[in-house]
Amino acid sequence: MNQSYVAAEEPGEHGPTFTSYPNRDTLLGHLPIRRALPLRQRRTVGPWCFLDRFGPHAFSAGKPMDVPPHPHIGLQTVSWLLEGEVLHTDSLGCEATVRPGGVNVMTAGRGISHAEQTPTHHSGNLNGVQLWIALPDAHRDVEPSFAGIAETPLCELPGGLLRVFAGALAVVRSPAPHFSPLVGADVQVHPGATVEIALDPTFEHGLLVLDGECLLDSQRLDSRALHVTAPGRSGAAFASPSGARLLLIGGPPFAEQILMWWNFVARTPEEIAAARADWETGRRFGEVRGYPKPRLAAPELVRVARPNPLS
Ligand code: MN
Repeated sequence: MNQSYVAAEEPGEHGPTFTSYPNRDTLLGHLPIRRALPLRQRRTVGPWCFLDRFGPHAFSAGKPMDVPPHPHIGLQTVSWLLEGEVLHTDSLGCEATVRPGGVNVMTAGRGISHAEQTPTHHSGNLNGVQLWIALPDAHRDVEPSFAGIAETPLCELPGGLLRVFAGALAVVRSPAPHFSPLVGADVQVHPGATVEIALDPTFEHGLLVLDGECLLDSQRLDSRALHVTAPGRSGAAFASPSGARLLLIGGPPFAEQILMWWNFVARTPEEIAAARADWETGRRFGEVRGYPKPRLAAPELVRVARPNPLS
């Protein structure tokens, strides 16, 4: 029996350890990204059903992020940046540039469309994540809405810092609206320090190293994989020899079977087909004004194909 097998099977001080799922390399337009969710072997972590990691990316010309207007249903999008800026414009008429420390949360509900792009005035850097949250049945047809939060709550902990951009963790709570229990946070571990965080034992959690080298309960976290801990864990100790940043997401295992196709989160193929038809015929999703290029056309609805989600 080798060391890693022992480490993976034996419960640690805070409960069960983790399972690792390597990220998948893909493209968002021309921007190379790493997809951490969904994967064939792992579709969700709590209600979180999509996680793209992009950057760090430095540029002197062009727009590394440029996603034309496209529709969403049944989900919330969450944009979280470490560096740079992304401009969001949507069919409700909202326009908001997200920057490090702030968060953009868009609730698609029954239907919304939006565009995301690097703004004209930018820092020349892009580094962040884009996440989706599946809305629970009781709320998935809510009216669409958008919240741009300039400054998420910050919590100083022994050995590090915590920013909470969704739900609650430690003593801080994000003001963003959500529809089921969850957490989304950015944990910063100071060089040579250990940060201990109490976790909700009813949650499963996903961990993605954003920068540096990080250990969970003395086990190194591969920076190109999503690490998932099962419910039953009441806390975590994150350590780093030279400083690290870590994305932490979680929630109770999502009890509803979801169907994801393109940028839609639904329950049945009929709902997907109806949403696609509404987008193609200009119904339900409104219009994104102020974006200079044409909106995206929906992929063909072929039963066997699962088109890549966008962002
Ligand atoms: Mn989108």
